[in-house]
Amino acid sequence: MKDDNCIFCKIANGEIPSKTLFEDDAFRVILDLGPAAKGHALILPKNHYANLYELPEETASKVMLLAKKMAVQMTDKLKCDGFNLVQNNGEVAGQTVFHFHMHLIPRYKNDNQTIGWKPGEPSQEELEEIRAQIVGE
Ligand code: AMP
Ligand code: ZN
Repeated sequence: MKDDNCIFCKIANGEIPSKTLFEDDAFRVILDLGPAAKGHALILPKNHYANLYELPEETASKVMLLAKKMAVQMTDKLKCDGFNLVQNNGEVAGQTVFHFHMHLIPRYKNDNQTIGWKPGEPSQEELEEIRAQIVGE
C-alpha cells in the first residue's frame, strides 16, 4: 500500500534518504526538515494512509505507543523541558503532506515557538448544542 507520487512513502520505505531516529517493519521516525524546535521529528507509517480517518485502528494504537517511546527517549537525550504531539488532518487543519504523520516536538524554555489556538468563549447553551450534535442526540 504505497503511493508512487507520495514523498513520505518514499522516505518511509528508504527510497529517499532521511535522518532516521527509529525504524521497524511498520514505521520510520525521521527528523523534520523544517523543525519547530531542535529535534522535531515525524512518525511515518510505511504504508500510505492519507490521514487519521484512513489509518487502521491497529496502526493508530501502534503510533501512540511509538510516540510515547520516542518522547521518553528524546526527552532523556535532548534534555527538553516539555513535549508536543501534533497531528494535522486536512488542509484547513494545517496538513501539507497527505501521508499520515505524527509530529514529535521537543519544547525548551525560551524556544520562542507557538503551537496553539485562540481560545473561544462559548456559552453553556452553545457547549450543550455541540455536545448533543457530536453524540447524536
Ligand atoms: P504537516 O503540515 O502536518 O503536513 O507537516 C508536514 C511536515 O513535513 C512539515 O513540518 C515539514 O517541515 C515536513 N517535511 C516536508 N517535507 C519533508 C521532507 N522531505 N523531509 C522531512 N520533513 C519534511
Ligand atoms: Zn504516502
